[in-house]
Amino acid sequence: MSKRTLIVAGSMNMDVVSRVARFPRSGETVHGSEVHYLPGGKGANQAVAAAQSGALTCMIGAVGTDGFGQQLLDALKLKQVDVTEVSVKDGASGIALIAVSDAGENQIVLCAGANGKVADVEIDALDRLLTEAGAIVLQNEIPWASNAAFMRKASDASVPVIYNPAPAGQLEVDVLPLIDTIILNETETELITGKMPQDETSLEEAAAWFLTRGTRAVIITLGAEGSFYRDAEGISCRVPARQVQPVDTTAAGDTFIGAYAAIRYGGAAGDASPQTALQYATAAAALSVMKLGAQASIPNRTEVFAFMS
Ligand code: ATP
Repeated sequence: MSKRTLIVAGSMNMDVVSRVARFPRSGETVHGSEVHYLPGGKGANQAVAAAQSGALTCMIGAVGTDGFGQQLLDALKLKQVDVTEVSVKDGASGIALIAVSDAGENQIVLCAGANGKVADVEIDALDRLLTEAGAIVLQNEIPWASNAAFMRKASDASVPVIYNPAPAGQLEVDVLPLIDTIILNETETELITGKMPQDETSLEEAAAWFLTRGTRAVIITLGAEGSFYRDAEGISCRVPARQVQPVDTTAAGDTFIGAYAAIRYGGAAGDASPQTALQYATAAAALSVMKLGAQASIPNRTEVFAFMS
């Protein structure tokens, strides 16, 4: 079995979560009943999912000199993610302030902190990893210019780029030919392509939007409806979600993406086909929705294979 390093360049956040009876109005103070400090961030979550799926996973990114920085690094190390290429920047780490109401809704204030300072130093770190790299996985919680630079450098070295444009924001179409696989949910698909994926026709149209602009494969995730795959070679498939009782869908998408990358490009299952990787990612994501939390809910490879058998 070949072992290749999967690189995840992206965000690390401390999620500070409090429960409130209801959200405060402007200028009002309400009491939160509990506070939890939960390591998160799309980059870190996807790195944990990849490492737990058996890929040698190396994180590129930045934490702050505040107390959260070391905690974020420790959380990743605990899940077997290599953090030697994570920089420490003066100031705050990425922090998400999350209020969850008794009605189950949430309000989130995302402070980029050190994630907003990911730039030349971190882009240069990629040079040390490219020769061993199976793929690079990117999201939208670091500056767009840095994301584009990671894509260019990886593409020049023929390292596949997996891109999750979440949260949906800036996307310049000239990078689309640099992307091997774009993985996005329904909301992101509609915001980027203008097409809401509702049926097979609109899924095909949305995928075609990316393929005609040079991206080689598209995966649209559809929550409890599963996912849709289409690539430039004409392979297309629909993968139903596993039937489970959801407890908390936080990080279902991140689990799916990290697991897919590990199986398809991380050497975690040899050279897996997209279909094999999709089946595995679907099972991993289903297990994650059965548990509370983000990184805490991400299953390992043994659990996923047991669930699939
Ligand atoms: P999130 O933002 O909550 O991390 P997302 O919107 O990025 O998620 P989704 O499309 O909701 O991503 O989910 C990703 C994958 O997780 C789906 O394709 C599916 O395989 C699995 N999944 C999500 N919700 C469920 C569910 N209720 N039951 C089973 N599997 C699910």
